[in-house]
Amino acid sequence: MAYADLLKDPRWQRARLEALNAADWECSSCGERTKTLHVHHKRYVWGRKPWEYTIDELAVLCVDCHERITLIQKRFDAAVAALKLEGDEAAMSRALGVIEAALSPNVQIQVLNLEHAEGIALTSRVAVELVTDAMDASGEVVPVHVLMSSREVKP
Ligand SMILES: [Zn+2]
Repeated sequence: MAYADLLKDPRWQRARLEALNAADWECSSCGERTKTLHVHHKRYVWGRKPWEYTIDELAVLCVDCHERITLIQKRFDAAVAALKLEGDEAAMSRALGVIEAALSPNVQIQVLNLEHAEGIALTSRVAVELVTDAMDASGEVVPVHVLMSSREVKP
């Protein structure tokens, strides 16, 4: 069955509606309420139907943000594929930190290793020490927007 046909399935229509209601019918990236809204899959799992995702795996985005984020994800996937070919684990961790911090500035990020922290620091435009200092015992780091605001505060 073609993907376009799956999107006509009432089970997807219900999942879509639930995501839109949960997001209060606004773009979760820019807050736009008057542009056409799309329900975006943040990731795809091989073999799953479009409606077989939790609400956390879906994002409500306006048509412009959807286009922008899809482009970023495509570029990121291509960059990761190239790094995998080179077997450069450090560069992959750094790239992951950069993209996670850029896509989710309002949530805590689990820091995986020093290179990952470097990537988060790059996006946040702060020193890597600030990221590692902001980690709690479980390795979670404060949201990037908090990191960025702490950068302006001089002791
Ligand atoms: Zn938007």
